[in-house]
This record gives sequence, structure tokens and C-alpha cells, in this order.
Amino acid sequence: MKIMTCRQLGGPCDLEHPGETADDVIKANDRHLKEAEKAGDAVHQPAREAMKGRWRHPKKSMGWYRDVKKAFADLPQV
Ligand SMILES: [Zn+2]
Repeated sequence: MKIMTCRQLGGPCDLEHPGETADDVIKANDRHLKEAEKAGDAVHQPAREAMKGRWRHPKKSMGWYRDVKKAFADLPQV
């Protein structure tokens, strides 16, 4: 298992998301950003908007996914 933080995924805080794959931590952060938006957390709003943009434009976002997957692959196992 590896751990990526909200910040490593483009967010503003250091909440840790454990996961077996990059997709796991991406999904966990998506949930975290959705919850922050619901709670009216303005600090997370830019990251939430960026995430919505990635869902709308998956092809344009391939670079972001590649970077996250590479960063995840380089992390040590915990
Ligand atoms: Zn966060």
C-alpha cells in the first residue's frame, strides 16, 4: 500500500489517502474534495473545480493522470 496526500493530488491540505493503486488515491481525493465542497470549504474549491474539469475533459487531463501515476509509482510502499 502507498499513501498520497491531498496536496500531492493538487489539493491544499495534507490529508493522507492510502491506496493500492493510483486510481484508488485519485478516487479517495475526489470524494474528499466533494465533501469539502459540500461543507462549504473555500480552500478546496479550486482543486474541486480542477477535478470537475478533468472529468469533463478526460483527454486534456491525460498529462495530469500520467503525472499522478508516475508520482504514485515512485512512492515507497508502506
Ligand atoms: Zn484536502
